[in-house]
Amino acid sequence: MSHVFPRHTKADLPVAVTGDGCYILDRSGKKYFDGSGGAAVSCLGHSDPDVIAAIKAQVDRIAFAHTGFFTSEPAEELADLLIGKAPGNLDRVYFVSGGSEAMEAALKLARQYFLEKGEVSRHRVIARRQSYHGNTLGALATGGNQWRREPFAPLMIDTTHIAPCYEYRDRREGETAFDYGQRIANELEAEILRLGPENVMAFVAEPVVGATAGALPPVEGYFKRIREICDNYGVLLILDEVMCGMGRTGTLFACEQDGVAPDILCIAKGLGAGYQPVGAMLCTAAIYEAIETGSGFFQHGHTYIGHPTACAAALAVFRKLTGGVADRVMPMGEKLTTALNDAFGQHPHVGDIRGRGLFRGIEIVEDRASKAPFDPKRGINKALKKAAFEAGLICYPMGGTIDGVRGDHILLAPPFILEDSHIGEITDKLNQAFKAVF
Ligand code: PMP
Repeated sequence: MSHVFPRHTKADLPVAVTGDGCYILDRSGKKYFDGSGGAAVSCLGHSDPDVIAAIKAQVDRIAFAHTGFFTSEPAEELADLLIGKAPGNLDRVYFVSGGSEAMEAALKLARQYFLEKGEVSRHRVIARRQSYHGNTLGALATGGNQWRREPFAPLMIDTTHIAPCYEYRDRREGETAFDYGQRIANELEAEILRLGPENVMAFVAEPVVGATAGALPPVEGYFKRIREICDNYGVLLILDEVMCGMGRTGTLFACEQDGVAPDILCIAKGLGAGYQPVGAMLCTAAIYEAIETGSGFFQHGHTYIGHPTACAAALAVFRKLTGGVADRVMPMGEKLTTALNDAFGQHPHVGDIRGRGLFRGIEIVEDRASKAPFDPKRGINKALKKAAFEAGLICYPMGGTIDGVRGDHILLAPPFILEDSHIGEITDKLNQAFKAVF
């Protein structure tokens, strides 16, 4: 009997023992193509020799030095490189151990920023209905997924949610994509006015929505309008690129494609590529200066922030990504989309195939014409995950919430090192899964 506490207590999970490029092998020797990089994590695959060597070298030098006493060489170097590539006025990096921690740090930094500035009433957070920002209580409160939130609602900070930018479902007939984006973005202004601008601290969004909506990109102009509204009312824009950042969408930061820069940016997953648990929060010089000239102390912290081994791994990942591997994302993403459209574009239960770069989602519907989702009791996304896994393909299943109704999505986020032959393997195995389920 296992004493490990699994996510699903009834699950009988295979034991992963070896990583080999884009594949994971279990104890029986079965090979799985990692079509979702776990959950958009493993951008370099599972056996990158340079990242592994960097981890070993760092552990040989020093494993840990508490950030209350020291900074470290890999943390300093990685921060410089990240800021060198970061959009807008992002100027400082706060290293943490994952995405939820990055979000918690972002929320607390936003609050402390306004306290330092004397705007003490600013504390309200506005986010979007289709969103996931993590499972710790602050991050969970910010996310809009009702199923995840409901059991813990009494423990949560007060957050309100506006509509996501979900063109496939919400653009009206006769409305241009641009006009739709402006209309939906204006919901933010209405919500800020409803709450009172003097009470609103931040708007939080994923540039390309991952775990609740299957790689859902915004329409052109949406985020520019969001940025404008935040600026007009002095509200901070926090972008959560935990899933869509670090090259996943074809640019190092997803927001670059929308022509906006946030006040605070969160990254994780692809930052450590799965080799180490690491995340980061980046903030602007203005926010940092408010703390520096104010109390001089960010009232936050964890034992393992800025862990040297994690930073050394992330530094090696960063060098690989910016040294050429991330350049593969756009062209390979195009090939993957073409293959998905060819294989599933006309499938009676495929409503939408979307995404950017190597971040692709398939929305499953019961009826293509009405876009009606399947009854959640059918557990379609879980059944597809299971059937694909049996066929040797890892894909990430999701049941998002479509204004209270559950919908099914499959997320694909393969390693950036995938080859042309792997694309055929993904569509073949996914096809087997579709045939088994439908
Ligand atoms: N934000 C987003 C957009 C995510 O996708 C996730 C993880 N799926 C998180 C935050 C939380 O990250 P972690 O699981 O590393 O805490």
